[in-house]
Amino acid sequence: MDGEYWNPRTETWDAESKRRWQLHKLRELVGWAKQTPWWRRRLASVEVESLRSLDDLRRLPFLTREEIRQDQEESPPFGAGLTVDPSWAMTRHETSGTSGRRPLAFLQTRRDWYWGAYAWAQALWGFGIRPQDVVYLAFGYGPFIGFWGAHYALQLIGCTTVAGGAQPSEARVRQILATGATALVATPSYLFRLAEVAQDLGVDWRTSKLRYLLVAGEPGGNIPSTRDQLEERFLARVGDFIGMTETAGIAAFTCQRARGYVHIAENYFLEEVIDPKSGEPVPVGELGERVTTAFGLGSYPIIRYRTGDLVRRLPHSGCDCGRTFDLYHGGILGRVDNLLVIRGVNVHPSGVEAVVRANPAVREFRVVAETVQGRDEIRVEWEPYHSLPEGQLASVSRELAAQLAERHEGLRFAVEAVSPGTLPVWELKARRVVDRRPPAVSAMGKEEGRVP
Ligand SMILES: [Zn+2]
Repeated sequence: MDGEYWNPRTETWDAESKRRWQLHKLRELVGWAKQTPWWRRRLASVEVESLRSLDDLRRLPFLTREEIRQDQEESPPFGAGLTVDPSWAMTRHETSGTSGRRPLAFLQTRRDWYWGAYAWAQALWGFGIRPQDVVYLAFGYGPFIGFWGAHYALQLIGCTTVAGGAQPSEARVRQILATGATALVATPSYLFRLAEVAQDLGVDWRTSKLRYLLVAGEPGGNIPSTRDQLEERFLARVGDFIGMTETAGIAAFTCQRARGYVHIAENYFLEEVIDPKSGEPVPVGELGERVTTAFGLGSYPIIRYRTGDLVRRLPHSGCDCGRTFDLYHGGILGRVDNLLVIRGVNVHPSGVEAVVRANPAVREFRVVAETVQGRDEIRVEWEPYHSLPEGQLASVSRELAAQLAERHEGLRFAVEAVSPGTLPVWELKARRVVDRRPPAVSAMGKEEGRVP
């Protein structure tokens, strides 16, 4: 098999076939969920037979992470929304967790897990990965789902997988070279780390066999400055893969032709884009929150799940690869809950990243929001690769402040350089936003925050 598509039929189907399939899968999923009391209660107002078109989807309630959390706290460890006996599970994974809160735990049955792996495989194949590739996975293989799905999908394709495991970055660099890896799986943040470690070791990635960088977990793969810099440093093409622990598989991916957008895997997922405040769908091309329904997950059904990701959906005609899967222009453009509203101006961390990463002096950065004398202020701390003279640091800071202001309606950013090695290095899920404003203020700021 060496065609362009993993699923030649469903990746290129016409609108009517797609609609019919999605409605069929939706009805199947709702019917399955409603065999258990928790879901019968949740979906009491909707009978399977009454789902006659995809518009009827809107009669189903949204599912939120908070609701799953509450369910798991009341009925530990997996929640009453679990539809199968835990002994059916083949794997168990946890969310990466935010400070102080218990991570969510998810089981995957054999069917769930292979469904997710096939969704990953479709995406990786679509990007150009083939059986002859040797793929290095630079992650710790811990309880966080991370790149576990990618690992199994690569094996389904027939690639050679090389597990990076928990070891120092220097050892990983040597192993990537020694194994002749042609593709590397990591977060964008961690790729910057590997680029730097290699430089210290005197290794030039551009002479390695690497051709593909498979990134997930953060938006960087579609932030032009981040992507371009990674491609230049590794002389390899960056592919962006969008998934989450709750849904196991990959919901959107970069195809072989894509530049600046991803295809939605519409044969595995039903995706909607809504206004995060009203819950109503937004028109095509407008920014909104991504809501996902995962067709193949039975153990804890994900139906109309609010992902918190901000996206802009466009028709598939924007890509000429032949897939009839719609596009998310720019990938994940930010997070609903990461949006900082500073004196009435919306600041998305990915918007800051687009500016900061374009400057070759910047190694790492952090965004800090705080209240100073009753006024919201925003500061960007950046770290150079090596110690630079004061004058040069100041001029980079001035340049960044001007570019950031230009992008944010003239908002004043305090930009300051910090010493090399000050800011944390991230392997998974970089957290570069620190909101030090009093809770009431930041909550209010969010409440008033309008999605542009
Ligand atoms: Zn395409």
